Amino acid sequence: MQSKNRKVALITGSTSGIGRAMAFRFAKEGFDVAINGFGKAEEIEIQLKDLENFGGRAFYFGANLMEKDQCQDLIKKVHVHFGRLDVLINNAGLQYVAPLEDFPDEKWDAIIALNLSSSFHTIKAALPIMRAQNWGRIINIASTHGFVASVHKAAYVSAKHGLVGLTKVTALETARENITCNAICPGFIYTPLVEAQIQAKAKEHGLSLEEEKIRFISEKHPSQKFVEMEDLANLAFFLSTDGAKEIRGSSYVIDGGWSAV
Ligand code: NAD
Repeated sequence: MQSKNRKVALITGSTSGIGRAMAFRFAKEGFDVAINGFGKAEEIEIQLKDLENFGGRAFYFGANLMEKDQCQDLIKKVHVHFGRLDVLINNAGLQYVAPLEDFPDEKWDAIIALNLSSSFHTIKAALPIMRAQNWGRIINIASTHGFVASVHKAAYVSAKHGLVGLTKVTALETARENITCNAICPGFIYTPLVEAQIQAKAKEHGLSLEEEKIRFISEKHPSQKFVEMEDLANLAFFLSTDGAKEIRGSSYVIDGGWSAV
């Protein structure tokens, strides 16, 4: 495919975990890819080279998405660099686990800013671009915690419930356009975000990391298996195709049966 004909996908938080897997999936499918997130410069360079091996362009845009101005700026910069923005995947997120009474205010503010407000700011900035192109796909990475709660995750659960709501409003406001907005709601995937929780639990239960991994996942997923990030990337890619043009405001759980219980 000629570079000028390639669609452009921006995946926030794509230097690690799920976002990284999605960046590779879109590059493989012939997209130009904009990546974002924190990480070592030399590792990001390698990631960009690996992405470009699929034949398209890849570019890194540093932005701290806890800051409103940087969310808006990110969208502008991607548009200026590539001349278009077709797929926006709001994926950057973080977790903090503590009982409500001990939950630090600054962690609440940070999680709401990144896991919820950043998507509002990026969607708001991306919509005029997608409307001018007459085509767009917005995918918000929420969580099974967008529907159910777990103890000690007040900020995360609140933000993800909010993100499911934002997905529906965006879908309604674009319902007569070639723009869709949907959410993917994963159960647990073994990424750095989850590894940190498992390490803390292993200590608490006096178990090895491997023992705790099995205990942890069996507690939530009837499948007793972690979800693989490639499964999420497959769904994100499908939602970005014309075949998904009337899927609007949906939230897809991929959680090994957790929410079926
Ligand atoms: P991860 O920690 O592996 O990756 C998070 C990414 O976000 C990294 O690239 C990081 O640099 C970036 N990031 C962090 N703070 C940022 C900031 N202020 N500005 C810009 N980028 C920032 O996490 P992951 O597990 O891949 O999670 C990705 C998304 O999936 C998150 O929204 C998370 O809530 C959601 N999710 C994860 C799981 C899971 O089990 N891992 C389950 C459900 C939902």
